[in-house]
Amino acid sequence: MPNKSNKSQASKLSLKRQFCFDKWSSTTINKAYKFSDDYKTFLTNNKTEREVVETVTKLLTKNNFTQINFTNKPPKNWKKLFLVNRHKALIFAIKGKKSTSSGINVIASHIDSPRLDIKLTPIYEKEHLAYMKTHYYGGIKTYQWTTLPLELRGVVVLENGQRIKINIGSKSTDPVFIITDLLPHLSEKQMELKLKDAIMGENLNLLIGSNSTKNKQSKQKVKDNILNLLNQKYAIKEEDLISADLEIVPAGSARDIGFDSSMIAGYGQDDRVCAYASIQAALNIKNPDKTTVVIFLDREEIGSYGNTGAISSFSKDFIASLLAAETNQFDENQLRDCLSASSAISADVTAAFDPHFADVSDPITAVRMGAGLVLEKYTGGRGKGGSNEASAEYMAKIRKILNSNKEIIWQAASGTGKVDFRGGGTVSIFFSQHNMDVVDAGIALFNMHAPFEVAHKGDIYSAYLAFKQFLLS
Ligand code: MN
Ligand code: MN
Repeated sequence: MPNKSNKSQASKLSLKRQFCFDKWSSTTINKAYKFSDDYKTFLTNNKTEREVVETVTKLLTKNNFTQINFTNKPPKNWKKLFLVNRHKALIFAIKGKKSTSSGINVIASHIDSPRLDIKLTPIYEKEHLAYMKTHYYGGIKTYQWTTLPLELRGVVVLENGQRIKINIGSKSTDPVFIITDLLPHLSEKQMELKLKDAIMGENLNLLIGSNSTKNKQSKQKVKDNILNLLNQKYAIKEEDLISADLEIVPAGSARDIGFDSSMIAGYGQDDRVCAYASIQAALNIKNPDKTTVVIFLDREEIGSYGNTGAISSFSKDFIASLLAAETNQFDENQLRDCLSASSAISADVTAAFDPHFADVSDPITAVRMGAGLVLEKYTGGRGKGGSNEASAEYMAKIRKILNSNKEIIWQAASGTGKVDFRGGGTVSIFFSQHNMDVVDAGIALFNMHAPFEVAHKGDIYSAYLAFKQFLLS
């Protein structure tokens, strides 16, 4: 039998899972709720990567950041800068007390989310009804996107370069759109199909109209009526939809969940929750030692391919231009030295252990909703496939940073799901290519990639506190 002192010694040695609301004072819990209220507004208003970039541009400008581009280089004594890449990705920097060449602190998240994109020649008519063809973007469970109100957001660009913004569905007086499903009474055959076959991607066709009162002579009265309406409202014609980024996203606001309002349901929390926490962290630190760089990437949900994704050189080029400004020259070796001395967090969401789907996770190591920021040494499944892995040394450094503020509640994750399952990837591999130290850290969600994802207010606030502490290190 262990004696009493051995027992208390053992309790000091063992690592216990902590839950934010068990550990925090009511003052801190109130701060987490307040932080989440502002986050909900951000989530409701920003449902596409372009909208996030526009909002963040306004926020940075208000906070005295200067916008640069690759032909308008930063001044030698720059303090706060940002660059927008093709309206869909953004990177910003805050000058630290030390020189940028001695290494920087980077937080990278992604601002694209799974959704339905509009095809290029999408509008057609069938049985006096008009529809739009879609092609889903990112990994979705197709059946989750039927029978719910959907908004259309994005831009149409005319041949003359004029950009026309579209946002239909966000105002309470706006119409919304819907994808129909079969009534249960006639679904006997459908219900026998596998879930993945019940609604095929090619059948995610958006119902957009049925009014045929005008155009009496036309063979496609409903479609023609809709083309007329689009022309009246936006001065566009059918061909203009070929040069458009139009996204179908769930309608409605981000909302509190539960009698205690302790969680948030909203569209696009993967990964706008980390984007929001990282920008708030960066705007609320004073005089960091190291230069801060925060990156909002596009294209993560389809593998980071594309010139606005992590595969693009733009974030490295931006860092090179900071160095060039400071030293009045561009030196490839200096850039390499800077990157290899830099620390990065790939800030992205992961899956929380769902007690009703327990068999996909290892209950011993799975991360829990409400137990704080998730620190992931690696992400890939099946033999850590395709994943970056932070070194023991870098994990120790991050652990020390997180433990230096007792309000930061955090938990460690060993990948997503059971070892033999597929797992998921993040942008961390692209930063490891620059020979930076990089670790995955973020927030655990329920319903990831569903129209409404669930996050815990304690985890969101922990991530904000953790990102601040990291940027001050
Ligand atoms: Mn993600
Ligand atoms: Mn995702």
